Amino acid sequence: MRPAEKRSLPTRKLRAEQLTLPFDSPRERLRRRLRPLLDGGMVLVDNSNGVNLFSFQTAAGITTLRVSDRLAEAPIDVLRDVVAWARGGPQARQAAQHVRAFISRLPHRPSRRRAPKLVAQGDAHDLGALLAKVSRSYFRNLDLRIRAVGWGAGRRHPNRKSGSIRLASFQETTRAVRIHPALDHELVPSWVIEFLLFHELLHAEMGHQKDAAGHHRYHTPEFRRREQRHPDHDRFLTWQNGPLQTVLTRWDRRRA
Ligand SMILES: [Zn+2]
Repeated sequence: MRPAEKRSLPTRKLRAEQLTLPFDSPRERLRRRLRPLLDGGMVLVDNSNGVNLFSFQTAAGITTLRVSDRLAEAPIDVLRDVVAWARGGPQARQAAQHVRAFISRLPHRPSRRRAPKLVAQGDAHDLGALLAKVSRSYFRNLDLRIRAVGWGAGRRHPNRKSGSIRLASFQETTRAVRIHPALDHELVPSWVIEFLLFHELLHAEMGHQKDAAGHHRYHTPEFRRREQRHPDHDRFLTWQNGPLQTVLTRWDRRRA
């Protein structure tokens, strides 16, 4: 930086800001970053109890913005888009997409919903032990905040026409992993269960994205790439099209 430029910096103001920086609460930090971006008719109000990370309302020429302090560290571009969205006009649509995309990538906030009580020990497989093994082998024991693992309730009439039943699931709100109870059978090898657990833990790690239309996307190209790198990926597809059908037919009969 040339000396002439250096002199023109408002040094005192800058120093004051730097001093307060580490002591800022997220709320203060958000306000300090967002305020200079606001238009004349815009008011920022507290959003600490809000469900949405961002909302706005216009009445009598005043636009009231409610912005969660979870956006306090958002890149300045995102904050600009927050304002552009609230402002309306031709830029609003694209700005909204950017803000939504950013919000969907934020780490999951610990849920206040109670984790369901699930039974992990089955007749043929212990899901607790298998989950620990998968977590160790493929996620380096990364804390994926799984709060429950167990056998699901199982649908009485699985949708067999389409050939698809939900073999496993991960619920984002409760961080619970479930495996379909039809798979708790000696005909099902444990590597199959492990592969399904791997798939669900991948969901737990990667979360979801929202596409331009606002739809949740779980099986993103990156998700599929990582899934395909699992050594049992191809073997699982073969098993799914063959032996699985026998297992499901037995399950249907048992439940009939
Ligand atoms: Zn999936």
